[in-house]
Formats: sequence, structure tokens, C-alpha cells
Amino acid sequence: MASVTLSDLRKEYGDLTAVDGLSLDVDDGELLCLLGPSGCGKSTTLRMLGGLETPTDGDVHIGGDAVTDQPPYERNTSMVFQSWALFPHKSVLENVAFGLKMDGVGEDERHERAREMLDVVEMSGFADHDPTDLSGGQKQRVALARSLAIEPDVLLLDEPLSNLDKRLREQMQLELRNIHDEVETTFVHVTHDQNEAFTLADRIGIMNDGQIEQVGAPREVYDD
Ligand code: ADP
Ligand code: ADP
Repeated sequence: MASVTLSDLRKEYGDLTAVDGLSLDVDDGELLCLLGPSGCGKSTTLRMLGGLETPTDGDVHIGGDAVTDQPPYERNTSMVFQSWALFPHKSVLENVAFGLKMDGVGEDERHERAREMLDVVEMSGFADHDPTDLSGGQKQRVALARSLAIEPDVLLLDEPLSNLDKRLREQMQLELRNIHDEVETTFVHVTHDQNEAFTLADRIGIMNDGQIEQVGAPREVYDD
């Protein structure tokens, strides 16, 4: 796990300012939610943190290191998206082990670590299944295991539960919180769902118009 510091981050797309001088500190091992309406710049902020987008201005530090100019694969971050993007013709186990293969980890160790992660997300019984046989919630658990298998310093979650129906979403919020506590990784989780942020977060950063308006524990930001 690692801390994250965003300093005066800005992203412009032509005339549009998506992120407008945003500064934020995320503690080592914390679960921080960025909460705000659609279009306020949450995804863009997360993508700049993961290196999928280059800031127009400002800096990103991870674990104290300046990573603003580093490509995604040189940062020890991993991203989970709303859509699962699992490989349909690989088993669940191979899907989870895939990132480790990219990292050059040998097959036995890959499979061992993939099994451990499937255990964390309570999908051990599905190692040999094809992802297409799984429900939405199960797919998202596998996607989570795949992102965690590479042991990222920071896990970046972009509306990971938004495709799930309400009941499953609420269940997964609690599970996600438990998974976070088990793997001891820093999580930055983007959502437009207030309940989700309040259920999950150690702290919430409330975003509007490309800026952070307020940061605090759920009860602190709720009182205002
Ligand atoms: P959120 O995640 O809060 O919904 P986004 O970060 O996706 O917000 O988008 C912030 C703003 O930037 C929106 O107005 C969006 O249309 C715009 N935007 C995002 N990505 C791009 C892009 N690649 N090109 C142009 N505009 C973009
Ligand atoms: P999210 O649901 O994560 O907020 P969006 O639907 O805003 O994502 O954006 C999905 C993709 O489309 C992103 O890669 C983003 O960069 C791009 N995008 C978003 N808004 C625009 C836009 N106005 N013009 C061009 N690309 C955009």
C-alpha cells in the first residue's frame, strides 16, 4: 500500500476544464471515495492517478514518488471498471492470473496467488469456470481479484458497482469494504452514489465542477 498526493491537478479538453486545480491526500491503506455528480471530473481524476490520462498541469505522487510522467505500467496501481472486461475463453483462474503473467511471474506462483485472491473475493469454487457462466456480481468479484492479484500499492475503482442491481450493489458494498480491510491496500473509489460512499469510505472527497469541495469522514461531511 502507499499514500497518494494530488497537487493542483488540472485537465483540460480543449475549452472544457474537466479537473480544475484539485489537491488531495490519500493516506496509506485508506479507502477514500470520490463522490460527486456525473461529469464533475471523478473519472478523469482517477485516470490521471493511474496514468491513463496526462494532466494539463499539476503533480501526482504515489508513496512519495513523483509519477506524473510515468506510464501506467510503471506505477504500482491497478484499475477496476464498471464493465468487467474478463477474457471469455480463459478460465476464471487464468483471468485472475493474467496480470501476473504480464509481470513475468512463473505459472505455479501465478496460480497460487490467483487462488489466494479468489479466496479473498469468495470465488474459490469457480476457478475452472468460464467467466461467461457467471452473474454480474460474480464477474465483478473476479475482476477485483484480477486487479488485486498483482498486489498494487493503490487500487483505483471507477464506479465498479454501478452495473449491478440495487440489492447486489448493497451487498457488494459491504463485501468490498471487507476485502479492502483484508488486503491492506489503498483504495480510491469513484462513485456518484451517496449511500455507497457512506457505506464504504474511511473518508469522502466531495467533488463538484472539477474540484474537491470538502474532504472528511462520512459523519463529518454528512453533518454539513
Ligand atoms: P465523472 O467521472 O465525474 O462523470 P468525467 O471525469 O468522466 O466525470 O468527465 C468530466 C468532464 O470531462 C465531462 O464534461 C466529460 O464530458 C469531459 N471529458 C471526459 N473525458 C473526456 C475526453 N476524453 N474528451 C473530452 N471531454 C472529456
Ligand atoms: P465514466 O462513466 O467513467 O464517467 P464517461 O462515460 O464519462 O466515463 O467516459 C468514458 C470514456 O469516454 C472516457 O475514456 C472519456 O475519456 C471519454 N469521454 C467522456 N466524455 C467525453 C467527451 N465529451 N468527448 C470525448 N470523449 C469523452
